[in-house]
Amino acid sequence: MTARPPSPMSRQPVEESAAGEPVVAAKVDRSRCVGAGFCVATAPEDFELDDDGRSRPLRTEAPGSAAEGLVEAADLCPVEAITVFHARTGHRLAP
Ligand code: SF4
Repeated sequence: MTARPPSPMSRQPVEESAAGEPVVAAKVDRSRCVGAGFCVATAPEDFELDDDGRSRPLRTEAPGSAAEGLVEAADLCPVEAITVFHARTGHRLAP
């Protein structure tokens, strides 16, 4: 399987809030997840495989410093089950 190149959207920087508040978030469409596990390998602090073998986010919001890993996980997901977005604006960052 070949990973897709990062989308242009994923190259946009995510600013850290001045107070270090959460600024990014990720959702997993579990109906699409095939349990490939790339997200867990890429961002183990943000995803885990549950008893069904499907991914789920470990936190509802994350600091901007987590954005790179979240975006990479979304870009690597073979079925585009992961969506990463700005927690406040809802602006989609990946895929
Ligand atoms: S990379 Fe995609 S398909 Fe694989 S476990 Fe994560 S969400 Fe599911």
